[in-house]
Amino acid sequence: MRKILIVDDQKGVRRLLEELFKKDNWEVEVAIDGREAVEKVDEFLPDIILMDMKMPNMNGLEASRMILDRHGELDIIMMTAYGEMDVVKEALDVGVKRCITKPFDIINLRDTVNQMAKEKVS
Ligand SMILES: [Mg+2]
Repeated sequence: MRKILIVDDQKGVRRLLEELFKKDNWEVEVAIDGREAVEKVDEFLPDIILMDMKMPNMNGLEASRMILDRHGELDIIMMTAYGEMDVVKEALDVGVKRCITKPFDIINLRDTVNQMAKEKVS
């Protein structure tokens, strides 16, 4: 089964995305901040990570850097706020595959994730 790790400090966002991807036959794990994401990656070994940018303890950029250091092949999609172009550039430099702006259209997001997963397999 395809595995996705959802990282967001907002419970509502975690719940929404967890439900969305479970319905779409993904095995889902969630983390409440960057620190927990880094902890969970080694054991869960997701195919894709959906990573919020702004989080307490460790933000999405720091977490992505640490994760990609050890798992360079991992696909990370970063969720940023509108207008954070500097953050987007930094994220892509770190190796994040794609950035999407919050608030996002969930159907769009789901399609993006599925497309990335497909490209990875082929
Ligand atoms: Mg946040």
